[in-house]
Formats: sequence, C-alpha cells, structure tokens
Amino acid sequence: MSAIRSFDVVVVGGGPAGATAARDLAALGKRVLLLDRDGRIKPCGGAIPPRLIKDFEIPDHLLVAKARCARMISPSDVRVDIPIEGGFVGMVDRDVFDEWLRERAVAAGAERERGVFERIDRDTDGAALVRYAPRESHRAGELQTVRARCVIGADGARSAVARQEIPGADKGKFVFAYHEIIETPHSAPEAVDPSRCDVYYRGALSPDFYGWVFPHGPSMSVGTGSADKGFSLRGGVADLRRAAGLAAAKTLRREGAPIPLKPLPRWENGKDVVICGDAAGVVAPASGEGIYYAMACGRMAGEAVAEFLQSGDARALRLARKRFMKAHGRVFWVLGIMQHFWYSSDKRRERFVSICKDRDVQQLTFDAYMNKELVRAKPMAHVRIFFKDMAHLLGLARV
Ligand SMILES: Cc1cc2nc3c(=O)[nH]c(=O)nc-3n(C[C@H](O)[C@H](O)[C@H](O)COP(=O)(O)OP(=O)(O)OC[C@H]3O[C@@H](n4cnc5c(N)ncnc54)[C@H](O)[C@@H]3O)c2cc1C
Repeated sequence: MSAIRSFDVVVVGGGPAGATAARDLAALGKRVLLLDRDGRIKPCGGAIPPRLIKDFEIPDHLLVAKARCARMISPSDVRVDIPIEGGFVGMVDRDVFDEWLRERAVAAGAERERGVFERIDRDTDGAALVRYAPRESHRAGELQTVRARCVIGADGARSAVARQEIPGADKGKFVFAYHEIIETPHSAPEAVDPSRCDVYYRGALSPDFYGWVFPHGPSMSVGTGSADKGFSLRGGVADLRRAAGLAAAKTLRREGAPIPLKPLPRWENGKDVVICGDAAGVVAPASGEGIYYAMACGRMAGEAVAEFLQSGDARALRLARKRFMKAHGRVFWVLGIMQHFWYSSDKRRERFVSICKDRDVQQLTFDAYMNKELVRAKPMAHVRIFFKDMAHLLGLARV
C-alpha cells in the first residue's frame, strides 16, 4: 500500500475562488493540492470588471469581448444606454478562463488532481483526511485519501465541504439562474452589438432579478434568474430571445446553476477548514456578480490560511470573513436593499431604468462596479442621488 500524501492545504474546487487561493498559497511555498471535479463548464454570463483584470492579472487574450456600453431596458421597452467611459466590462468564456486559472496555480507550484470530493475524515492525531473519487473511477469503495493541515472549500454553491464542516451552511438561500449560449447571428443588427451588454428589467422575464444578453464574440449568453420556484426560467429565456430578436439563432448549450443570495454567517469550522467564493455565499445581490468576489474571497481565504499555517492558531481562519465583509459588506448591503425595492414590480422597474438616465447615477454605479468602491470623493453627487432616489421612492419624480 502506498503512503498517504501530505499537504499543507487541500483546495477543493478549481473555479475562480479555489484556483486563486491555490495559486497564492503555492506562490508562498506551501504544499498545495488543487482538487477539481473538472469536465463541466460553469454556467455563467462571464462578465468581469476591470478591477478583477487588474488585481488578478488577467491577460487580454482571455477576453472574448469588451463591452463599452450597458443598455438598460424597461418593462415598456424604454432603452437607456450607459456608456462605460474610459473602460470596459470584459467577457470571458468560463471553460477557457477557469482552466487558465487552474494552470496558473500549477505553474506557481500547486499539484493538480481531477476528482470528486467525498468527505473529510480524521486521522488518529485529528488531522484532516480528504477522501475523493479519482476522475477515472467514480465507483464507491475506490476513494483516494490525502492528508492536510488545512482544507479550503471552494466547491461552489451547495458546497459539500461547507455542508459537512460549517454549522449552518445547509441553510443558505439561492436564486436559480439559467442561460442559453447561442451562436452570434449575422443577421440581427439591432440585437447584436459585440460591445454592448443588454440588461432587461421586466417582470415577465424575471419576477425578482433581471434578464441579460451578453456578447462573447462568436457566441452570446442569453439568460435570466429567479428565486421564485414557480417561474419558468426556460420560458423566460425563450421570451427574452424573442424580445431581443434572437429567437432564430442557433442554440449551442443550455445550462443553469444556483447563485447564493447572501454570505453565510460563518466560514470556518474552528479547526482547519475555511470556505470561500460561492461556497461562502459571496455573490453581489441585485447584479449576481460573483467572479470578482470569488477571487477576492479566495485571496483572503489564502491569506488567512497562510497565517493559520504559520501560527497554528485556528482563530486566524476567521480573518477571511472579517476582512471580506469589511471590504465589501457595505456594497452588498446597499445592493440587497436595491434588489428588494427596485426589482419588486414593473412600476418600480420602469422608474429604476428611468433614474439610470441620470449622469450622477451612471457615474457612481459604474465607479462602484468597475472599481469595487463606493466613491467617497464626490459627496455632492451622493446628496443629489439621495434626493433623486427619495423623489422616485415617493413617486414625486416623473418616469
Ligand atoms: C447562469 C449564471 C450566470 C452568471 N453570470 C455571471 C457573470 O456574468 N459575472 C459574474 O461575475 N458572475 C456570474 N455568475 C456567478 C459566478 O459564476 C459565480 O459566482 C462564480 O463562478 C463563483 O466562483 P467559485 O470559484 O466560488 O465557484 P464555481 O465557479 O462554481 O467553482 C466551483 C468549482 O468546484 C468544483 N467542484 C464542485 N463540487 C466539487 C466536488 N465535490 N469535488 C471537486 N470539485 C468540485 C467545480 O467543478 C468547479 O470547478 C453567474 C452564475 C450563473 C449560475
């Protein structure tokens, strides 16, 4: 029998969160195993902000499109174009993007294993024994085992690591999102602009979220999401494709996945496991943006783990959540209120699109999205927006 391999850290899940944590820890000289199920493309619109491209050094060749305008479309078909001045929203294809991130972790020194996480058992000294089914054989009884000083659960929404190790992780709530990847048609000039993202705020397309049409060069992502189990996502996307003039385009893939609604209250087990990314629930409310937050969270989890490995003090693992919420908790809170209020009826959606015409709103929204900061340098703009918002909330402003 071969000896069990030992690692400082086993990272379960090689999406943006896990691949980032694995790369950072390997670059610090830690012995890292990156375990990923592989073989399935993550369903995702693939929109990423410049802050991600800069912070995580994403090369230009991974961007299949660059959106320089966002079109907000209201229930009554009012269209507001928001130019993205001096920047762009990048579009990535997740099969290529995720694989590149995993290989970058390997280049930094991580070992990579294709397999399905099964469970964590304990060795006689209490250390974690990570059991997984290797990719070639998913049959029960053929599990592999590795030993780890620490485990990072980055295995996405409904994480198996979180469910086993983190109290309360089974109580998370989700939006379900579904999209169709279609071939970019040659004949639909109004529907197809390779540098424009379309966002539909319309109850018929999503009762509590939004529908989107994102350009990906030769393909496009057309999708919608909802937490309402009675709502037909496939029906919503069919209607959206009709509304966008894309009904006849060739469908390449149909896929969906849950998106967590809010960060879990606890991310560590008080011993040697910490979770990050969708597993920890870090997707921005209102926008559903999760890639940047998964990578930021993966980085913070990696830092917390490095401190834990150094000191042996499990309290260091709590720093991941503490630092993440300090950096992004306020934005999540504001977006949560926004979603709750503006996405609750077509009347409000109409008003929401209307206030997007405002230059101050455009400027602040895009600063927040592009750079992940609530801009403090413009206090008067905040005051103006506050009064405009109030006027809309109270129904004083004309739509
Ligand atoms: C339809 C849809 C559209 C979206 N559009 C956008 C968008 O345009 N922009 C944006 O920023 N966000 C978007 N999101 C959200 C975004 O995709 C996620 O927030 C992001 O992928 C989270 O990254 P992650 O690394 O935490 O998890 P994931 O990307 O889900 O990665 C988890 C990894 O763990 C692996 N794994 C899972 N279980 C196991 C197991 N048992 N054993 C081994 N490996 C396992 C998986 O193979 C996967 O590689 C969208 C989500 C959906 C569903």
